[in-house]
Amino acid sequence: MRKALTLDNFMDGLKRRNPREPEFHQAVYEVAKSLVPFIRKHPEYRHAQILERMTQPDRVISFRVCWHDDKANIRTNQGFRIQFNNAIGPYKGGLRFHRDLNLSVLKFLGFEQTFKNSLTTLPLGAAKGGADFNPKGKSDNEVMRFCQAYMTELARYLGPHVDVPAGDGGVGSREIAYLFGQYKRLTHQFDGALTGKPIPLGGSLVRSEATGYGCAYFMMQVLEHRQQTIEGKTCVLSGAGNVALFCAEKLIESGARVVSLSDTSGFVHAADGLTREQLREIKEHKLQRREPLAKLGKQLKLKFHKGKQPWGLDCELAFPCASQNEIGVEEAKQLVKSGCQALAEGANMPVTPDAYEVFADAGVVFVPGKAANAGGVAVSGLEMSQNRVGMHWTAAEVDQHLRDIMAKIHEQCLEHSPGRSKSVDYVRGANIAGFIKVADAMLAYGVV
Ligand code: NDP
Repeated sequence: MRKALTLDNFMDGLKRRNPREPEFHQAVYEVAKSLVPFIRKHPEYRHAQILERMTQPDRVISFRVCWHDDKANIRTNQGFRIQFNNAIGPYKGGLRFHRDLNLSVLKFLGFEQTFKNSLTTLPLGAAKGGADFNPKGKSDNEVMRFCQAYMTELARYLGPHVDVPAGDGGVGSREIAYLFGQYKRLTHQFDGALTGKPIPLGGSLVRSEATGYGCAYFMMQVLEHRQQTIEGKTCVLSGAGNVALFCAEKLIESGARVVSLSDTSGFVHAADGLTREQLREIKEHKLQRREPLAKLGKQLKLKFHKGKQPWGLDCELAFPCASQNEIGVEEAKQLVKSGCQALAEGANMPVTPDAYEVFADAGVVFVPGKAANAGGVAVSGLEMSQNRVGMHWTAAEVDQHLRDIMAKIHEQCLEHSPGRSKSVDYVRGANIAGFIKVADAMLAYGVV
């Protein structure tokens, strides 16, 4: 006889099938906490084993990537693509280049992507990929040769109706352009098999900004629901990459005070809030020249705190936009003490489960990444639409779509949260709303 569905039973099975994958276990646990009680009330999902099937990727592709560095040494890396679920659309999700990338991290990201892509309301399946390649300190030519070698294998698994990667950490528009160039060379196709492309290559306006802007828009929805506005709010941000910098830009533009940005070298503190001019310089420094904040703090007359995180700064809103598990229990306690009232995850899973409990106990509004940072993949979806019809929309058009999508995600969270009017449970709302669409599609297909 089948065991009763409990969180413990489910997690025991998952860990047994996926040993030594702590990030994947953590991501599934966070979702299963919401879903197990929900599925118990919906036997059709239980009977069809939907949660068990959803936590098993459709396929895991792993391959060798050989390339020459500038000194003509042969270098070898491991490349990956995890095609997680294509029940509601072609596989879609970013590529990450990071020295420590492994299957556990990619499975957590691919699993999260299933729910995030479903929430966007667009027809997007879920995938994630990348390589254990460290882009730091590599020349342009080395990055190009690596991207070409990586795509030489990956191309056979891609296509605009099959699997459409985008960027993620360490993969920006430069890397996407190199990857697309090689894809085009190998397939003789100019199609929308990658998103996040530079504009002349068929990219969408507002794609680079979308994750950060979307995160700020979502927070504005949260505040509006609580009859507040973003204007004058003090915001603490981590990260100084694609997500953090554009989130900061939209917050400043909307009248909020952004008091920090950070990277692996430490954080800059702007007690009165970063000015647009300071942010512009930081963007140029980080996105174009790829230099550490440590080098810039003095130049901009900002306080720089070497090797530290910004969570002890006074704030009302927090936006962790750097990396997974950057906020543990201690950092969460610091944030609560600093006056934080709401947090939106710009990064994927930056808050550990124990830290989440600290926020929940203190009544801090918590928006999970699958809702807050869905703007990036949403505009990737819009890039796919533009590529299909061979058109470019204006920045204003794309931005309006992005705002509408973030509002729709917020509405779905409210619809499936137990406390719709007062304290909204965004975690549960996002998990259940994201689940239903994919689960119903899987039910309709039968056993495949
Ligand atoms: P980037 O690589 O552009 O930027 C990451 C930033 O965070 C860098 O400034 C980096 O510092 C800093 N950082 C990384 N790890 C640490 C750490 N352990 N401690 C302190 N700082 C750190 O990545 P993105 O901005 O694109 O992505 C950030 C997060 O957002 C990731 O979790 C990603 O999965 C998620 N995300 C990204 C999307 C996108 O569209 N790009 C979409 C949805 C989610 P340094 O510069 O020194 O390396």
